[in-house]
Amino acid sequence: MTFDTTIAAISTAYGESGIGVIRLSGPESLEIMRKIFCPGRVPDPSKLGTFRFRPRYMHYGHIVDPSSMKVLDEALCVYMKAPASYTGEDCCEIQCHGGMMPLREILSLCLRMGAEPASKGEFTKRAFINGRLDLAQAEAVMDLISAGSEKGYKSAVSQVMGSLSERVRRERQNLLDILVDITVNMDYPDEDIEEETLEKLGADLEPVILALDGMLAGSGEGRIIREGISIAIAGKPNVGKSSLMNALLRSDRSIVTPVPGTTRDTIEERASLGGITVHLTDTAGIRESGDIVESLGIERSRAALASSDMVLLVMDGSKSFDEEDIKLLELTAESSRIIVLNKNDLGMAFGPEELRALAAGDITTVRCSAASGEGLSDLSKAIEEKIYGGLKRTEDPVLTNVRHIDLVRRARESLGQACAMIGMGQALDIIEIDVRQAFDLLGEITGDSASDEIIDAVFERFCLGK
Ligand code: GDP
Repeated sequence: MTFDTTIAAISTAYGESGIGVIRLSGPESLEIMRKIFCPGRVPDPSKLGTFRFRPRYMHYGHIVDPSSMKVLDEALCVYMKAPASYTGEDCCEIQCHGGMMPLREILSLCLRMGAEPASKGEFTKRAFINGRLDLAQAEAVMDLISAGSEKGYKSAVSQVMGSLSERVRRERQNLLDILVDITVNMDYPDEDIEEETLEKLGADLEPVILALDGMLAGSGEGRIIREGISIAIAGKPNVGKSSLMNALLRSDRSIVTPVPGTTRDTIEERASLGGITVHLTDTAGIRESGDIVESLGIERSRAALASSDMVLLVMDGSKSFDEEDIKLLELTAESSRIIVLNKNDLGMAFGPEELRALAAGDITTVRCSAASGEGLSDLSKAIEEKIYGGLKRTEDPVLTNVRHIDLVRRARESLGQACAMIGMGQALDIIEIDVRQAFDLLGEITGDSASDEIIDAVFERFCLGK
């Protein structure tokens, strides 16, 4: 499919950087770039519109506004001729200085020359519609850009290269073969071999079901790899929550002071532990307070506790625990938690035995010192063990995206339903409905059978310029 419009957008991040890129895609890309490009070291406006771009070669020159003859910036420009480009259309890229002013001015000039502003993900959407990548690969492009951990990154690279698509297509092809068999048998029904047909159908479906089960088994880990997990750091004021968070982040972003109650609000940070992303929230210290600002923080702390996947309950291990610690133990008893006995460097006043006598719930305990760094690697290890504890670990989880997990789960259900129908000796046309449903659901992953609404919803989550 060819689009009539030419789109343009700033493809690099907003801010100040060495270079920035403006990207054009569509039939007029080259013409628009030619109208504003002056080749060579000294811009000669009489040369505007005359330069002949050689595809896939970088050309040095200046971007000039033809209406005012004003030079907007120095630039390196490249033309990628269709279909050998990211979108499969004629594409151009203008590399100028990476500040907001040159980028905005040049983009606005491109728009005046006839380009339309690209919507979110429109370049990748065009690439998808032109068959340069499938829907699962397109989604992985976005995962690749937003990956915050080693495992998330590795998995996104492999999906952009087609690992998931390939596996889904293989099972979809198997289902297609089965559907063809069913149709042939429906068209030429032979009463005598009906039972045999059903038996063969059941046997053919089995490996597909096993493959989908295998993919689903790794999906818990896959989802964590892509999205990471959220960890709330809770504890009384002054036990070392901020220090611990900073030690875990290896940076100094939250303010550490010896006055109780200074972390007034929750602070969220992203870190990578054991190759996966963790979203850490430092809570305000849940204690009753007359201070309104602090109370707000406390409310948020409670909400952070309730919504997080795991809680690190920090206690000052060098002092004996009190009522407040016990309250916090009760409050977090239902959570997946690790009790961190901090300030190990000052000596330990109590240990897990005393805590076990006090409180219900999981008493996984780690001793550490946020100040000296001692025990922090044990804490990372304990976090990792807890994350993976309830999961089936697979060699190479391919399902990381919730949309894909849901589709595979529903396809698996349809095939389970088909098997149940076979067991009941139902007619082939009834069984065919479930097999076809599974076939279509798998097609939604790669986009082979996705509706326009689904495709639009996927690309709406993209960033501008991609
Ligand atoms: P928060 O209120 O729980 O966030 O506690 P902070 O992180 O602000 O720490 C309170 C005080 O305890 C600060 O003076 C820190 O320097 C100190 N502190 C934190 N962790 C340790 C530790 O492991 N050992 C020692 N000796 N002091 C610590």
